[in-house]
Amino acid sequence: MDTVNVISISGGKDSTALWLLAKERETENMKVIFSDVGHEHPETYKYIDYLQKELGEITIIKPDFSDRIIKKREVVQTKWRNEGISENIIDEALGVLKPTGIPFLDLCLWKGRFPSTMARFCTQELKVIPVYEQVYMPLFESGNHVVSWQGIRAQESRKRAMMPEREDTPEGYEVYRPLIKWDVYDVFKMHDKHGIKPNPLYTQGMGRVGCMPCINSRKDELFEIARRFPSEIERVAEWERIVGKASKRGSATFFTSDDRGHGINEVVEWSKTSRGGKNYDLEKFIAWEDAPTCSSQYGLCE
Ligand code: SF4
Repeated sequence: MDTVNVISISGGKDSTALWLLAKERETENMKVIFSDVGHEHPETYKYIDYLQKELGEITIIKPDFSDRIIKKREVVQTKWRNEGISENIIDEALGVLKPTGIPFLDLCLWKGRFPSTMARFCTQELKVIPVYEQVYMPLFESGNHVVSWQGIRAQESRKRAMMPEREDTPEGYEVYRPLIKWDVYDVFKMHDKHGIKPNPLYTQGMGRVGCMPCINSRKDELFEIARRFPSEIERVAEWERIVGKASKRGSATFFTSDDRGHGINEVVEWSKTSRGGKNYDLEKFIAWEDAPTCSSQYGLCE
């Protein structure tokens, strides 16, 4: 039985360091994958291309929800009317229920809503299941043992600190977390050692790389995204308009509607407020207009 080492990269610092470590150890039978969910910043896509040129082939995994959107169209046509949904909402839904080829958006069209911290189906549907079906299953069927390398560090959270370096999963593959005892500076040192630039978003105020924004984005992160990358906010606002039409309620928001506001634009306004969320923060007001060209939470600009 051959062992295949699957390294899942995100375009972020930890998974890049993980790949560099695997190369440094001359790991055999490596398969490097990237799940393209269609909700990353353009710099991350450019960075994936850069890594591919510098380090080697990356297999791109792209989830496809076309079949589920087509089935949902049938449900809208045959069942919604009986549930008392208005003709206007049914027409609007049928107008948008067409696969766009953007996995995150298509997932939300199918579900008629965005994921949330309480209903966090995005990771499972966009990453875990497609990787299992498109990468692990074919490897199992060809008789391989799969080792899934994960760039998780104990420092990131209490939950992660409890994770072992190696473990077997009920699904039949092994998980290996060689960075578990690393700190963030070890991660950037690994980039330096191999002459690989970190994702440029880390010098543009971003502490993390991945979905932009993530459903778990904190207030300051959202503020930073909105002042530096307004087109990402506009894109999400447009998605809210489209996904809202695929919903029985006729409305859908990226962040759950609550005291922060209804819809991404209102939540961005909330991100400009001070603690308590009622008054605008003067410092943030000034900072909005004057984002430094280079800004890094990891001291990369020094
Ligand atoms: S990064 Fe955030 S939004 Fe993207 S799949 Fe993970 S939890 Fe969901």
